[in-house]
Amino acid sequence: MAKIKVGVNGYGTIGKRVATAVSKQDDMEVIGITKTRPTFEAKTAAAAGLPIYVPAESIPAFEKAGIAVAGTVDDMIAAADVIVDCTPGNVGPEYKEKYQKAGKKAIFQGGEEHGLTGVSFNSTANYKDSWGMQFSRVVSCNTTGLLRTLSLLDKAYKIQNAYVTIVRRAADPGDSKTGPVNGLEPSVSLPTHHGVDVKSVLPWIDITTMAIKASTTLMHIQAVVVKLGKEVSTDEVLDLFAKAPRVRLVSSKDGIKSTNQVMELARELGRDRSDMYEICIWSDGVKVVGDTLYYYQAVHQEADVIPENVDCIRSMCKLMEGPESVAKTNKALGIDH
Ligand code: NAD
Repeated sequence: MAKIKVGVNGYGTIGKRVATAVSKQDDMEVIGITKTRPTFEAKTAAAAGLPIYVPAESIPAFEKAGIAVAGTVDDMIAAADVIVDCTPGNVGPEYKEKYQKAGKKAIFQGGEEHGLTGVSFNSTANYKDSWGMQFSRVVSCNTTGLLRTLSLLDKAYKIQNAYVTIVRRAADPGDSKTGPVNGLEPSVSLPTHHGVDVKSVLPWIDITTMAIKASTTLMHIQAVVVKLGKEVSTDEVLDLFAKAPRVRLVSSKDGIKSTNQVMELARELGRDRSDMYEICIWSDGVKVVGDTLYYYQAVHQEADVIPENVDCIRSMCKLMEGPESVAKTNKALGIDH
């Protein structure tokens, strides 16, 4: 069977990772990426042999920088079967029209509204909802993290309600445009949008979220309190998490006490760009009291949505069932389970 031709529009934090992940699968290939400016990322993409498509007005700048241009953004859209749109939030609507006109499938990211596509995606929670669709949206990093564990808990024990406090990274490591650089900044518009976003995939979950921006770039931490539909033991929940796809148990007893040590583990694992695709839960920080479960999970914001984008392509192109796709993506990316 011919490989699915994937074009990646926007080659920043998420786009470059999606391109690498797609290029590691045997049933799809990257036919091109887009760049607006001839930055170092354009140069590394060119060195990696990725065809670079640019807006027509940017061609002279790329030529001046000595970077070969394969064509315009419209040319890439024409050549692709699926476009993974990784442009900054709110740019998506402008491109959706182009994809629609060209009759192409497209995946948008969490910076766009759910209403843009009407369907949002998470591999564990609702793989089937994007089956054969022209458009879908992979939810944000925080929402992906929450859905990985909440969808399983709901299936096993029926969630009565969930309260989550998110400590958010202020900026990505390569970003120097945002802050705070020395403070903690509460999100005062409450409840925050993260709970609403969880409902874009699992509308029946009763969830409320709050968030605080912290001066770190590495990861988010989510402090989760869930009232379950029945009383279970802490060990039972730990067993559920241990078997869950793209969830990794870590322990302070092993020396992983903070997000910087989680990222050190990712470096030890030798992953591309030291990415931690899994949601990391502190096993010694999981506790059930009566029918209430408490746990902390760390989310590598640059990485957790990457395997979901690969699975979303398979669902939209009706290539295989969810569990099969998750296993295939995991194997190609070196994720244990
Ligand atoms: P980014 O700023 O790192 O990358 C965006 C890329 O798009 C850049 O290369 C930029 O030059 C390019 N671009 C800008 N305008 C464009 C245009 N009009 N046409 C084509 N390319 C254009 O952003 P990012 O962090 O990769 O975020 C992309 C999307 O992924 C957003 O929706 C964001 O909300 C979502 N997301 C980000 C993270 C994260 O932590 N960074 C996590 C999950 C989801």
